Amino acid sequence: MKVLVADDDFGSRLVAKAAVEQSGHECIVAADGSSAWELYKRHRPQVVVTDLMMPGLNGLELCRAIRSAEEDSYTYLVLVTSKDSREDVVAGMKAGADDYVAKPLDPFALHTRLLVAQRVTSLHTDLARYRAALAEQARTDPLTKLHNRLKLSEDLEQLHYRSSRYGTDYSLAICDVDNFKRYNDLYGHQAGDLALQSVAASLAGEGRESDGIYRFGGEEFLFLLPGQTVSGAETRLTRALEAVRDLGIAHSGNPSGTLTLSAGLSAFVPDHRVSSERLLKEADMALYTAKSAGRNRVEVAPEVRQHTRS
Ligand code: GH3
Ligand code: MG
Ligand code: MG
Repeated sequence: MKVLVADDDFGSRLVAKAAVEQSGHECIVAADGSSAWELYKRHRPQVVVTDLMMPGLNGLELCRAIRSAEEDSYTYLVLVTSKDSREDVVAGMKAGADDYVAKPLDPFALHTRLLVAQRVTSLHTDLARYRAALAEQARTDPLTKLHNRLKLSEDLEQLHYRSSRYGTDYSLAICDVDNFKRYNDLYGHQAGDLALQSVAASLAGEGRESDGIYRFGGEEFLFLLPGQTVSGAETRLTRALEAVRDLGIAHSGNPSGTLTLSAGLSAFVPDHRVSSERLLKEADMALYTAKSAGRNRVEVAPEVRQHTRS
């Protein structure tokens, strides 16, 4: 572990540093509260052993600052109290300390605290890992491994906020597999699942790193294209549809004989700074137009079509 020792007394610092290193851990030292806080932010140690009375930030203030700065990690905080008064100890625990040792510092006492710290911080590391895995799982579609609607709503909110604030553009498109009900009827639901997986892999395999591709619904996929002009997005979508056609998945219920997609596109562009809900609605209506016009094509929402000429 990385251990930060904060103490304004040179002798105490030396004893603590030796005890930490003897216990097999790395030790960083600070001679006052303010530099301890700076070192904490820079090194993010797993353990902080802090004196109560120090110039700059005192021990209680340091504990509070650390607790409010923690994100997905946990710092084990040990307070060193010179007076060992009950009030100091209670105030320390309330400020966020996990344990305390009395001054003058007994190396053995610190060694035992570090054993506990090791156990507690490793539990927190495991927890953080599980939390991150669960959060990712909650945002992933199990069939296609694409991000799902929950992740889309988060990403879209963020993208819309940034684009509104900085005056940048983005495009949004909904793609839908053509005559997919018929596909399931002809080839079975399992073959339908496999087809959706191939389509998803094909859609995800192209384009820019920043493109977001989500499973929007059953056989619907959504593209978020940050910083993309309407023409650029239209080209991107045309290529995506082509790539799916080129998979050559047989679909005798489709006029072309292979599996195809239709897409509806709208965009957040100058003269069309509308809400993300509105863009979704426009893309959906454009998709409907693409379906009515014979499927297997990209349709741009009339609200932004003028931008394809610019
Ligand atoms: P259109 O060209 O107008 O989009 O016609 P469609 O048949 O594709 O549209 P419709 O909405 O009538 O049917 C969608 C079908 O997609 C029905 C549903 O069973 C199928 N579907 C949705 N999710 C899945 C899935 O996860 N696996 C499989 N195999 N089929 C799915
Ligand atoms: Mg559909
Ligand atoms: Mg469909």
